[in-house]
Amino acid sequence: MAFKLTSSKCASLFDVTAEDSLRLSLKPAWVYFCNVLKMRYPVLLKNLLKYSDEIFAILIMVLEEYSFRRNSGTVTECFYQLKRECSLPENSFRFRHVKWISLTSVVLLPYISDKLQNYYDKLLANSNLGVELTSFQKYFLNLYPILLTFIKWIRVINYIQYLFNYTCHPSPILRMAGIQLKYGVKTVVKVSDISSKKKSGMFQKLYSIPDFTASIVMKIAPLVFYSLQFVDMFYDKETGVSKLMTSLPFPSAPLMPKVASTTLRLPPSAKQCPLCQLPHTNPTTIVSSGFVFCYACLYRYIEKHKCCPITYRPCEFTDMIRIHS
Ligand SMILES: [Zn+2]
Repeated sequence: MAFKLTSSKCASLFDVTAEDSLRLSLKPAWVYFCNVLKMRYPVLLKNLLKYSDEIFAILIMVLEEYSFRRNSGTVTECFYQLKRECSLPENSFRFRHVKWISLTSVVLLPYISDKLQNYYDKLLANSNLGVELTSFQKYFLNLYPILLTFIKWIRVINYIQYLFNYTCHPSPILRMAGIQLKYGVKTVVKVSDISSKKKSGMFQKLYSIPDFTASIVMKIAPLVFYSLQFVDMFYDKETGVSKLMTSLPFPSAPLMPKVASTTLRLPPSAKQCPLCQLPHTNPTTIVSSGFVFCYACLYRYIEKHKCCPITYRPCEFTDMIRIHS
């Protein structure tokens, strides 16, 4: 595949940064989706979701490969009506391999970047806990933030140059690849489409499965992207926690419920059961009150009185929760 240079208008910096932001929101959305699945099916998906980064990279690779073949741009670029053009001579290496260079930049580099960030976070946590690090790990811990800052500054400088028309490439990677982002450019040569016509039979059917899946995803992509932008307003990209929740002050601990006047005497130690006054055996609490008893003592009490022994709030066996510590 090759993207031939036309004379269309270059993408505005606003659209470039908006596209960039949308693409960066895909991974946090995937992490959030995986967390929901982990909560819903913790045993079934325990092993599979250990490779969620790899699964995400493969899914994005299939989707982006399809998008490059059909639209000369990434899925999110197509959302903003942007297409990639290679400004290099047609016989150059980078022109001939522009699709794979683009896929490397949108799939492989973010994957490696995520892995490095995870490694850095792990080393930092170990360092804070006083775990002895090797000299390589110490170098990495010191150099990684410097490298990140350097890359961020290079990107900012490139944005400024792009804004004032000193460069026609909106990012350093696109600059190295000789790629420009333009509005509504069509793919001129589709080598992969020509070669795919030669395949037939079972192989053709197998080959078409990722294409079919990708085409379905591309059709629903606008809806997904609108949803992502909406979700992005309320959820933190890094943690997946609601911004509304994080912006609120941390709530104070709930007060102890009112103790009924004609009730049992609370034991001097929190580790003793108010019913038998002995240390808890199978400590169990009641949802509505939070006081802790032995399981057997509480079971017998609720069976007889249908209420909490301390607060007298009505309760059933289903309100009992075993405490695991
Ligand atoms: Zn007891």
